[in-house]
Amino acid sequence: IMPYLNDARLVRELAYINGKWVHGPHDIDVLNPATEDVIGHCTQLEPSQIEQAINGAQAAFGPWRDLMADERAAILLRWHDLILENKEDLARLMVLEQGKSLNDARGEIDYGASFVRWFAEEARRAYGDTIPSHIPNAQLATIREPIGVAALITPWNFPHAMITRKAAAALAVGCTVLIKPASETPFSALALAELAERAGFPAGVYNVVTGKGSQIGQVLCQSEHVRALSFTGSTRVGKILLAQAASTVKKCSMELGGNAPFIVLPDMDIKEAAKAAVAAKFQTAGQDCLAANRIFVPQAHYEEFLQAFAAEMENIKVGNGFDDDVTMGPLIFREAVDKAQELVDDALAKGARLIAGNQDHALGANFFMPVLLADITPQMQVFREENFCPVAGVLPYHDLASLITQANDTEYGLAAYVYGHDIRSIWQLLRGLEFGMVSVNSVKMTGHGIPFGGVKQSGLGREGSRHGFDEYSQLKYYCLGGL
Ligand code: ADP
Repeated sequence: IMPYLNDARLVRELAYINGKWVHGPHDIDVLNPATEDVIGHCTQLEPSQIEQAINGAQAAFGPWRDLMADERAAILLRWHDLILENKEDLARLMVLEQGKSLNDARGEIDYGASFVRWFAEEARRAYGDTIPSHIPNAQLATIREPIGVAALITPWNFPHAMITRKAAAALAVGCTVLIKPASETPFSALALAELAERAGFPAGVYNVVTGKGSQIGQVLCQSEHVRALSFTGSTRVGKILLAQAASTVKKCSMELGGNAPFIVLPDMDIKEAAKAAVAAKFQTAGQDCLAANRIFVPQAHYEEFLQAFAAEMENIKVGNGFDDDVTMGPLIFREAVDKAQELVDDALAKGARLIAGNQDHALGANFFMPVLLADITPQMQVFREENFCPVAGVLPYHDLASLITQANDTEYGLAAYVYGHDIRSIWQLLRGLEFGMVSVNSVKMTGHGIPFGGVKQSGLGREGSRHGFDEYSQLKYYCLGGL
């Protein structure tokens, strides 16, 4: 790794607990998905060490909560500045372990840092309410209190920003955090811990625990000290964690899978819609919970759209994220490639048309070339499941009412895209789509100021925005009587 970075001290192969760098009984290899080279090792903590980390975070909670919001914010802002000062190194580390293009990685560091700044500023505005009293001679109010130790379990697709989006909210409001990064991408998390240490978080406030997800998840869920659990990942694992967290009634925030419809209205310029759909589909090689999973096009413009989409796909340059003008990297591991092929085979067997995509051009074991499938149906996996790969599925529709029913025909409800101009159709979609986020005529929808989150089995809770504090705080009501 070292030749790629300016500051070699950002590469950490140990976990960070209670202000100390510690190792577990053994390590695992971390691979570069583009080359399959071993880029380093990640220590695997054992359950007793997770317990120690929880105890440290619990001990640190009181003093951290008792700081003034401005004091916590000052440390967060130092962390923010350090992240941006080290942006290039953090981005390079991310390309090495995650595979995305260097430009995308740089963008993620900016995006991730923006949450730290946002929540440092919001810390000053963690307001409660005063309540008109129904009790004689009394004063009633609420105060917003940090919930306690927060466990944050994060995925490999956005190894930086999924940490800052959770941790900054929790830390700013006064919680201490235990972060469990994905085993595929520990280095982004550990570099953030190194910078957190430099920023001056007191020992025990910021912890990163690495190791086997299922084992660590269990210890975190069983602990009575861990009061909040925030998870981003698959719906499958989210359900396991929710069930485990029930035993101690934790406050749970879940950012789970998506199955986004991308809807083109009849009055939309087809080339423009195709360009946007390609961007909404193939970002992060399709390994994005916001990825356009089902692309709905009016029957009258269907073939024209398919041609425009295929033409736009030619601009995607697949390769090693470090290579110039590469826009799409490899998938994270081989099973993801197998899964992508399975989706394509299933669709073709059930009557889909392959319009573009040839795997003979794949650059290595973890690479999957972008695919365009036409005529997908609800019977196909590509329609039903979160694809999480660069396979685009398109289908025609006839009228708005049946379109809305079909777009909602999924257990997921994270994001939806609408492209068009007719305000009445747009409003009917905004009202009818059962998704937590609907973006009209914009591929970009996320940011620090918006409440990110899903409905149905896409999750619980919101991240970012002023609502982001809700997951890590609780209201205390008080009645001051006898006045
Ligand atoms: P993805 O498809 O994004 O990898 P996963 O849900 O498999 O999503 O993983 C997301 C995070 O959850 C990772 O940090 C992973 O290590 C962790 N994880 C996986 N299985 C479990 C489990 N049974 N309990 C707790 N965490 C888990």
